[in-house]
Amino acid sequence: MTLSIPFDNSYARLPAQFHARLAPEPVRAPHLLAFNRPLAQELGIAWDDAEELARVFGGNAVPEGADPLAQLYAGHQFGQYNPQLGDGRAILLGEVVDRAGRRRDIQLKGSGRTPYSRMGDGRAWFGPVLREYVVSEAMHALGIPTTRALAAVSTGEPVLREQVLPGAVLTRVAASHIRVGTFQVFAARRDIASLRRLFDYTVARHYPEAADPQALLDAVIAAQARLVAQWMSVGFIHGVMNTDNCALSGETIDYGPCAFVDDYHPDTVFSSIDRMGRYAYANQPRIIVWNMAQLATALVPLMPDEEAAIEGFTRSVHAMPARIEAEWLARFRAKIGLSTEAEGDLDLVSGLLDLMARDGADFTNTFRALATGDARDQFTDRAEFDAWAARWQARLEAEEEDPEAVMRAANPAVIPRNHRIEEMIDAALGGDMAPFEALMQALSRPYEAPEDPALTRPPKASERVQATFCGT
Ligand code: AMP
Ligand code: MG
Repeated sequence: MTLSIPFDNSYARLPAQFHARLAPEPVRAPHLLAFNRPLAQELGIAWDDAEELARVFGGNAVPEGADPLAQLYAGHQFGQYNPQLGDGRAILLGEVVDRAGRRRDIQLKGSGRTPYSRMGDGRAWFGPVLREYVVSEAMHALGIPTTRALAAVSTGEPVLREQVLPGAVLTRVAASHIRVGTFQVFAARRDIASLRRLFDYTVARHYPEAADPQALLDAVIAAQARLVAQWMSVGFIHGVMNTDNCALSGETIDYGPCAFVDDYHPDTVFSSIDRMGRYAYANQPRIIVWNMAQLATALVPLMPDEEAAIEGFTRSVHAMPARIEAEWLARFRAKIGLSTEAEGDLDLVSGLLDLMARDGADFTNTFRALATGDARDQFTDRAEFDAWAARWQARLEAEEEDPEAVMRAANPAVIPRNHRIEEMIDAALGGDMAPFEALMQALSRPYEAPEDPALTRPPKASERVQATFCGT
């Protein structure tokens, strides 16, 4: 085998409590569906042909230097604490230090059963694998911190969901896979030695300037406040913001039932399992605060003075909503062309969003059309929009920078719309990867008008995706 990955593993050297060592389960007929060459080069991976890529990223060959393992974690799922989750269908092959000096995890997802699989089969099917590939790469191109997709391999094996579906494995690259739930598992077990070890490891890997748990909490809160504001600014709904799907690194992780809003409404939910709307679009800023409160709780046992710790942590968590609002406003100011700050800006942005919600205006296209002067067409209640636009124009007069340029840089022309993703998956199931390639091409430059204008079109009634699924 000529494929080489310059592994430099550190998580594998953590104590046995942190993981279960095992290799991915081989699959019947690995076939490479997609491979991210620029990312592979960034990681210093060398390879010869697609067949060896399929063998390695399908889980049939463990590359030299890998130290494969499943990570342990716990987490709150929809508010309920689950004392043991862990990688039930993923294997961390190891880490590399990339060309820019950043340590990155290389993980196979859908790679077979592990000691943490519980009732699951350890597998994934085509749909969620290609969905994560496309959406995570789109998020990266949008400039939003995210795990990346390195490879997608079909397994040649059936996976049983509501029906029999073809299996696939995704290779995911992440700054790390340390989750809020990784801290929770050791805190809940009162395994303080492991908790301290995890704290030291996380600080060294992500926040070397954080001297104590309070500083780590503040750094993670800052990263997550930024992240959720970025999601909101492109109409992204994560869909399953459980504490096990919340990364300490501040990257977006775990693309399950996620989706982008088409016609805007703050209560939008796509996930079939989110019946109460806990993870609805506009609820995300509240949920991330809740998740940070869980991280804070898990950090308390590391502090010498519990009462003082709780006081400090509480202050940080309580300050988070204002921080998110500031991050949010900074991004939405840019979306309406503002580079300066003025008193009534929050009102102005909210006024537009309220009109959009009332009219069901398309989120992406409405903001994009502000730059081209066509936004009026996105509304049925034109008089209301005109009234808002008059206020907006008056506000723009205070601007020195070119608002149009500001808006073009803040408002993507193309996002991975649900109906396009579904269409791409259907085509891929029939062996046609052309829609996948076309989507990837357009999404790699989301702030430019795509070659195929159909990719900017909202779904017709018949194309509308009603629900998204975890695919587990
Ligand atoms: P997720 O909803 O993808 O964040 O997964 C939540 C938990 O369920 C994690 O511990 C996963 O590893 C586990 N899980 C999800 N799908 C499967 C599967 N098909 N087989 C085994 N474990 C799974
Ligand atoms: Mg998960």
